[in-house]
Parts: sequence; C-alpha cells; structure tokens
Amino acid sequence: AVVVRRRMQRAARWEKAVAIVKDFEEKCGTPTWKLERVADAMTQEMHAGLAASDSQGAPTMLKMLITYVSNLPSGDEKGLFYALDLGGTNFRVLRVQLGGGAVVNQEVSEVSIPLDLMVGTSEALFDFIAAELAKFVDQEGPDFQLPPGRQRELGFTFSFPVMQSSIASGNLIKWTKGFSIDDTVGQDVVAELTRAMKRKGLDMRVSALVNDTVGTLAGGRYSNKDVVAAVILGTGTNAAYVERANAIPKLRGLLPKSGEMVINMEWGTFWSTDLPFTEYDYVLDAESLNPGEQMFEKIISGMYLGEIVRIVLCKMAEEASFFGDIIPPKLKIPFTLRTPDLSAMHHDTSSDLKVVDTKLKNILEISNTSLEMRKVVVQLCNIVATRGARLAAAGILGILIKLGRDKIKDGEKKRTVIALDGGLYEHYTEYRKCLENTLKELLGEEVSESIVIEQSNDGSGIGAALLAASHSQFLEVNKS
Ligand code: BGC
Ligand code: MG
Repeated sequence: AVVVRRRMQRAARWEKAVAIVKDFEEKCGTPTWKLERVADAMTQEMHAGLAASDSQGAPTMLKMLITYVSNLPSGDEKGLFYALDLGGTNFRVLRVQLGGGAVVNQEVSEVSIPLDLMVGTSEALFDFIAAELAKFVDQEGPDFQLPPGRQRELGFTFSFPVMQSSIASGNLIKWTKGFSIDDTVGQDVVAELTRAMKRKGLDMRVSALVNDTVGTLAGGRYSNKDVVAAVILGTGTNAAYVERANAIPKLRGLLPKSGEMVINMEWGTFWSTDLPFTEYDYVLDAESLNPGEQMFEKIISGMYLGEIVRIVLCKMAEEASFFGDIIPPKLKIPFTLRTPDLSAMHHDTSSDLKVVDTKLKNILEISNTSLEMRKVVVQLCNIVATRGARLAAAGILGILIKLGRDKIKDGEKKRTVIALDGGLYEHYTEYRKCLENTLKELLGEEVSESIVIEQSNDGSGIGAALLAASHSQFLEVNKS
C-alpha cells in the first residue's frame, strides 16, 4: 500500500509540474496577430517619442534619443583612431587604421569588468577604464603612428541611455543591465572619462560618444550602403535607425544639412499591453537592479533569459517537488543559470540529453534527473527563447513599418539591410533562427526577399572609430 501511495504521489507531482509548464507556455504565446499588434504599438511609440520633448511622456514611452550623428561614414575616413566599448560584461579597446574605404589595420584588447566596479563609484569605474586604455596605448607597436604632435582621438561606445547635447557629450539618463552606480546618473560621461584619463596621464580626446546600436549602424553602413538600422541582441537589447530630420518634431531648430538623423530608440523600455508577461517575469523584475524599467529588454535579452527559466524551475520545485522533496539550494540563487547555459541545453542533440544533465549537475547541483525531466527543461528553454526571439522580430517589423519598408511600394523592391550584433544573436542558434523565421512570417515571402539581416562583426567598435574620424578636430581628416 505504501508503494502504491508513493507512486500515486509521484504521478500527482508530475502532473502538477506539467501543468505549470503548460500554463507558462500558454501565457508566453506569441501568435502572429499578437506580434502584429506589438509591431504596430512599437511604430506608434516611435512616433510619440520623436514628438515629445524629453521631459514629457510616460516613462515607458520610447526615448528616441537624438544622437547628433547626421552623416554615416562615407568611406573617405582616414587615419589612426581609437575606440572604447563599454556596455555588457566585457569592455574593449580598439585601435583602427582607416584608409581608402577600408580598415587597413586593427588591434583589439578585451577585458572583463570586475563585478564590484559595476555597482561601485563612478570614479572607480572610469579610473579602471582609463587605466586599461593607458595600458593599451603604452603597448603600441611601430605599425601605428600618428603624425607628430597630433592628439589621439577616441570614439567612445557607451551602451546605455544618454541624453546627448553634442556628438561628444551627453548625460547618463540611467544605468541598465548589470550596472548601477548612482553618482554617474545625470553626469556627462565624456567629462567623467576625460577626467579619469587626465588622472592617468593619458592625453586623448573623445571625438564621438555613441551608443552601441549607433556604432553598429555606422560600421554596417561603411561596408554596405543599404544598412538602415541596427539591432543589438546581447546582454541588453536596443535598436537605432536613420530617420528623416523633418519627421522628428523635437529636433526643432536643429536641422542637419544631410536632412537625416540617427535615432537611438532605447527600445528596451518599450511596453505594451500586448506583451506576454507572466508571473515569473514579475518575479524577475522585482529582484532586478531596475524594477519596473526595461520591460521589453527583460523578456528578450541575454541577461534575463536564463534567469526566467531558473524562476520557473524554482516554482516547479516548490509547488510540484519537481526535483524531489528538497528544493535544490543552488536553484534559489538568482542569476545562477545564465543564457549561455540555456543555449547549451537547448541545443543538446544527444539522445539522453547529456548536456542538460551536466549543466544541471554543474550549475545547479541537481543530479539524478530522468530523461523525462530533462526534456521538460529543454522545453522551458524553448518557450523562453521563442518568446524573446519572436518579440524581437516584432520590434524589427515596427521599425520597418515606420520606414515604410514593410510593404512593396509601386512595385519597387528596395533592398533593406539591418545590421545585427550581440552575443545572444551570435551564439544562440535557435534564437537566431526563430527570429529570422518570424520576421519572414510577419513580412510575407515577397517582401522578405528584399529585407536582409546581416550579422555585424564588432561593427560597433569600428563604427565608433569611424565616427571619431568624421568628427575629428583635425581639419585634413575632416575634409578628406
Ligand atoms: C541599453 C542600450 C544598449 C543596449 C544593448 C540596453 O540596456 O539601454 O543603450 O544599446 O542595452 O547594449
Ligand atoms: Mg556590445
């Protein structure tokens, strides 16, 4: 009788666990009609953000930030320039020799940012960056030479929302992703970096301050003139695109000669009643560094996907004893399951799901899972990645609608290229495939033929160097 009772109990727990997964899957649903509504909402929010002055509008309204980039690289940029890329988990320093419409030579150094610096003081963070930059400059070989007496110039890729006041200045609106340093908020990040470089005795000038989306757009356009927008799917997510100046009411007096302006959308803040949030997303939001903010980012981007799966598994452990009578202690620790782990489990093709088994053991210290259980874990990865990728595709459709490129006009097929960058897109194959298929599904076959997603290989660093070149203080560079 005891054995029978135990067996019944186990069956009831399994049923409960399956019910939790089924409910989660339903609530994460992104049928085409819903994605179309999300895309339309995105387009509408774009209009609203372009019109409203910066102090107006709901906090979830798209910021649609003016970047002061009104000319994308022409191919004439020449000379030696530096770039610094701060935004995710790593930060990079580049030196780029430009000439004759191509990158002649390039050197990169990548350093991971100590976690305590992401939540410490502004001075400590910028001192660290300036010190790494100084090291990089010190190790310069003879291949890279500036004309005598010329100051080094830097494109600063800073991947957070900034209210710019010129191409080389701007105040941080807020931190996102894993960063939270109160005393930087509201400060000019170029001034912060410049002060730190002075402290380190480094003579360098920031000629361009750019978001990573804007750098990627510039880098993309340099090699392909059909690039009109750039999207980042990495730790965080965002998009930038080229807008007609006369479609930007809040530009007011500022009318660039080119008639165009690159807009940094900051789409991570996007919110709509059509977004399929679940109770697990609200748990994630509450424990995040920025509750109530970046809600689109929180269901799409790399920093959060693994965490969502962890939260669902936690609930299954608590309410359905999915992993037995004890809730695995590691499972309760936020952000232990990272998106690269999710990706590895999702792509496990072994018949016994060995990778899933190893990941559960190594990361969450959960052993003795059955194949059935591991299949459920893969299913969760699939649900979360699919929702994120489909919503990202809907966001891209929103931009295409705004640009009038979601339909064929007057029989003319304009080639449209979107530059895409970020570790999530680059490394999570199922996510990438799903995004691309969804965009096709939304656009229809005929239109999709002229819309291309192009993976950018560190376009944002080169883009920043290109923009530093076109905004150089040295006339001969400017005029070339
Ligand atoms: C930031 C954006 C950035 C994106 C991708 C977001 O969290 O707010 O400025 O472009 O991450 O790095
Ligand atoms: Mg990046």
